[in-house]
Amino acid sequence: MTRADLLTDTRTTPRRKVLISGASVAGPALAFWLNRYGFAVTVVEKAGALRDGGYPIDVRGTALEVVRRMGILPRLRDAHIDLRRMTFLDGDGSEVASLRPHTVTGAVAGRDLEVRRGDLTGALFEAVRDDVEFLFDDSIDTLDQSGHGVDVTFRGGGRRTFDMVFGADGVHSRTREFLFGPEGQFHRHLGYCFAVFTMRNTFGLSRETVMWNAPGRAAALYAVGDDDEVHAFLNFAHPEPPFDAFRNPEAQRDLVASVFADAGWEVPAMLAAMRDADDLFFDAVSQIRMPRWSSGRVALVGDAAYAPSFLTGQGTSLALVGAYMLAGSLADRDHTAGFAAYEHSTREFVTVNQEQVGEGGATLFPTTARALEQRNNMLRELRVMPSAEARPAHSALTLPEFGPMT
Ligand SMILES: Cc1cc2nc3c(=O)[nH]c(=O)nc-3n(C[C@H](O)[C@H](O)[C@H](O)COP(=O)(O)OP(=O)(O)OC[C@H]3O[C@@H](n4cnc5c(N)ncnc54)[C@H](O)[C@@H]3O)c2cc1C
Repeated sequence: MTRADLLTDTRTTPRRKVLISGASVAGPALAFWLNRYGFAVTVVEKAGALRDGGYPIDVRGTALEVVRRMGILPRLRDAHIDLRRMTFLDGDGSEVASLRPHTVTGAVAGRDLEVRRGDLTGALFEAVRDDVEFLFDDSIDTLDQSGHGVDVTFRGGGRRTFDMVFGADGVHSRTREFLFGPEGQFHRHLGYCFAVFTMRNTFGLSRETVMWNAPGRAAALYAVGDDDEVHAFLNFAHPEPPFDAFRNPEAQRDLVASVFADAGWEVPAMLAAMRDADDLFFDAVSQIRMPRWSSGRVALVGDAAYAPSFLTGQGTSLALVGAYMLAGSLADRDHTAGFAAYEHSTREFVTVNQEQVGEGGATLFPTTARALEQRNNMLRELRVMPSAEARPAHSALTLPEFGPMT
């Protein structure tokens, strides 16, 4: 089919039907743009409703332009968390340094956004909910590409055929496993695991982060506002990914509790709160690196294809930009040409951002006493430095305009 045929097609033939697995960041963003380009979009999400938990996330550089074009930038600006201070503590709880956050995080004051994860997923969902079909509490059971489309059976018993299917189902993507096999071959472990959850703010913290460090272990409390909840964050060195714990929250709690068993500061209270937390999010700190993001009529987007890890702070931005580029690449092309265009236009941006992991993130979590001392010295010097410049990687892609629009 030629480009001209496809342009005609959008006006004369039924809309191309697509299925997206995952309703977090990449999924609804992709749904938004595909709907704009005339696709009939269904999103399937295994959770029973939109999942609004999670640590605050960053939207920076090129991704800011994506949310502006979606019309949700003003809402996200209103939701921006204006963090005032980051305080670092030593193993005995004494203060190492208290800094303006932008000195450390790589974000640009007054431009980049940090919002509660749920504020972003809520804004994305509202931007598409009236135009797109959502199937909650369901997931893909089988995918068969042997015919002229993708035959899908759903765990809930449904059976349908789509022109294309997209995996926006996160680091541990099932869609990726269907297409390319086990995660291990694409999983690049960065040597840490982390757990985040919310707990009561009994610490008097307000719009600030306090981080305690010992070699190989970090514990942080992040007060997003002035309310009575804080985000608790526990990060620790773990040389191998704990595959056994990924689907077992009790095993995750046991692992974290054993690693931090003798830790000081507020860590005992954090461990107690973790036991009862109903929003625990645990994972290995890792990247997904794949030589190809598509196979046949199925493509991956966001963390499923190229998770960069929170050490880069770019996971959400890559998901937003990737969704925009994937949808735009398909606007006036068939799946073969569209998927090739998506990879061609987006891979370099992904790669430079994944490589940010060596530039700062890991140094926040030193694994030896000597490295911790060096990091603390660096933090003391940062007190007198001006805010960091924007990292070029965050804006390393200029968004094209795509069409045709419906
Ligand atoms: C509840 C939650 C909390 C998070 N908290 C943090 C955090 O604190 N810190 C951090 O660094 N990152 C966190 N993340 C990850 C962060 O949102 C992503 O790194 C980033 O935003 C990229 O988004 P994504 O849409 O590609 O993937 P994700 O945000 O991981 O979303 C994947 C979506 O797919 C769904 N899904 C998974 N498997 C299936 C399946 N088989 N069928 C259907 N749906 C499926 C998931 O429920 C989820 O909604 C969290 C993700 C979730 C889902």
